[in-house]
Amino acid sequence: MKLIYEERDGILYFDGCDTVKLAKKYGTPLYVYSLTEIKNRIEELRKAFLDKYKNTRVAYAAKAFTSSAIFKLIDNEGLSLDVVSGGELYTAISVGFPAERIEFNGNNKLYEELVLAIEYGVGRIIVDGLEELDMIEEICQSYDKKIKVMYRITPGVNSDTHDYITTGKKDSKFGIPLDEEVFYPAVKNAIKSPFVEFYGLHFHVGSQLFDNESHLKALDILLSHIDEIRDRFAYEVKEINIGGGFGIKYTDEDRRPFEYFIDPSMKRINEHYSELNIERPNVVIEPGRSIVGEAGMTLYTIGSIKNIEGVRKYVSVDGGMTDNIRPALYQAKHNGMIANKMEMDRNDKVTVCGKCCESGDILIRDLDISKPEMGDILCVPSTGAYGYSMASNYNKNPIPAVVLAKDGEDSLIVRRQTYQDMLLNDIVPSWMD
Ligand SMILES: *Cc1c(COP(=O)(O)O)cnc(C)c1O
Repeated sequence: MKLIYEERDGILYFDGCDTVKLAKKYGTPLYVYSLTEIKNRIEELRKAFLDKYKNTRVAYAAKAFTSSAIFKLIDNEGLSLDVVSGGELYTAISVGFPAERIEFNGNNKLYEELVLAIEYGVGRIIVDGLEELDMIEEICQSYDKKIKVMYRITPGVNSDTHDYITTGKKDSKFGIPLDEEVFYPAVKNAIKSPFVEFYGLHFHVGSQLFDNESHLKALDILLSHIDEIRDRFAYEVKEINIGGGFGIKYTDEDRRPFEYFIDPSMKRINEHYSELNIERPNVVIEPGRSIVGEAGMTLYTIGSIKNIEGVRKYVSVDGGMTDNIRPALYQAKHNGMIANKMEMDRNDKVTVCGKCCESGDILIRDLDISKPEMGDILCVPSTGAYGYSMASNYNKNPIPAVVLAKDGEDSLIVRRQTYQDMLLNDIVPSWMD
């Protein structure tokens, strides 16, 4: 497989593009995505899952990186799309994403979001709370539509990841609890409802996982509840959704192949159903980070450098927590390199910080790097997931542009926000004049 990062004459190239030229052409901070890398990931998913097991689907978790162009790409690749808000759904609708391949997740779907989803006729609504079914039924009735619903369960398993991205433990805001007096009445309501088709069960246990154990534990719990649903209601579910969460490389870790998560899960599901002599339901996964995370990187221009003798050397860049909140939010680790000094020894140790008025606005601690100077271009790899999609206008910093690179060609897919853009919704009441 072709290398996405290459060095040519001391300059960093990304998917065949000179990153220093990209920084000049589009300005910094700049998100750059490698189309080749995204397509590689999708090919891996085809090989490990879609082509290997029948009746399977991959739903890209849009929240990792939402933009019209990436949605179009996901559609062209024939994948499904997992959205979690009216805004993500609206983006999908605006590029004509086929409704039947959209699934709607989220722990507090608003009435008007459900209206948008049902009006458009999304393929699945993944119910995540007890109040939701009533709203869905009411809207389906008024639009004369029947919608497929899945129930997201809280399997009560812990995952070995940062607490903020653990989502399957009992004490979680996500999912329907499996308590006898909560879960089965809710299932019964969905089965007997004339307005929805109860389609199956869903879980998502966490993000940036390197161990398949929480998936497998949650899967056992899910399968036992499907058995119980069959026994109690003589009802066979049609789909199992085992979420996403597959970990990627940021610094030293190595991404596990998709097979590591998928094969043991499929083995368990297939064995379970062949023992029962029942055709197994569809199986769906929802990877986000593992499709776009390593495919994206951020370019910054280095500005002020503050060397505190015997303490630390701070190197400031022209972005920070506004374009990558992950280090401040959950101590995420990143690598970094000076894109115009790739040949030089990395014998300086620095702390890369952003320009926001927060001491916590640190992007990388204790990074070994070649000697930084004002005007150098810093590349931070693996920012493709939860970077742009979590960006903010804090300190009224404009949200950076996004460029898609492929074999030396570059296309702008999100233009840089302007100062004027940021003021579009501001109003000075006339009585202040
Ligand atoms: C966030 C999320 C995903 C994707 O998680 P990744 O770690 O990005 O793969 C999948 N499903 C649900 C329900 C999610 O909330």
